[in-house]
Amino acid sequence: MGLEAKKYMDDGLLVPDDVVVGIVEERLQKEDCQEGFILDGFPRTLAQAEALKKVLGVLDMPLDFVISLGGDNLALIERLSGRRTCRECGRGYHIRFDPPQVDGKCDSCGGALFQRDDDQETTIRERLNVYGCQTAPLIDYYKKEGILVTLNGMEGIPQVWANIQKVLDEHQG
Ligand SMILES: [Zn+2]
Repeated sequence: MGLEAKKYMDDGLLVPDDVVVGIVEERLQKEDCQEGFILDGFPRTLAQAEALKKVLGVLDMPLDFVISLGGDNLALIERLSGRRTCRECGRGYHIRFDPPQVDGKCDSCGGALFQRDDDQETTIRERLNVYGCQTAPLIDYYKKEGILVTLNGMEGIPQVWANIQKVLDEHQG
């Protein structure tokens, strides 16, 4: 299935849902998933969610819950567009929240900082649009399934992580 997906990716095409779901299906049958699993950033469309539900039904591994990390678009744009990465060592910075000591230079290795294409403001706006059209409908979908947990993703990293851990603890067993 991975090789199948690679064919599409090599041609710069989106991998079709049935191939993506096939990869997830294969992965979930491995030993280390038998006690539980976490899917991160998947599914991203209603079609994927429906296909996933079928696969999980067959495997008898239903989803216990879905966490939605909510964010305000303007704040997300500020967070993402301010990210900088060191070309040499890969260390991450933020021009406002975690700036380097010398503008444009890595504190660790002195390498030049650059902005990933993904973090350009126009790309971020496109990603937010795609999210709004294709992924946001999953919030209602999982609300109706009765397994949606909504957390505020705009709090600090330690607080968001603590809240996620609380949800995991509550659903254990
Ligand atoms: Zn560096």
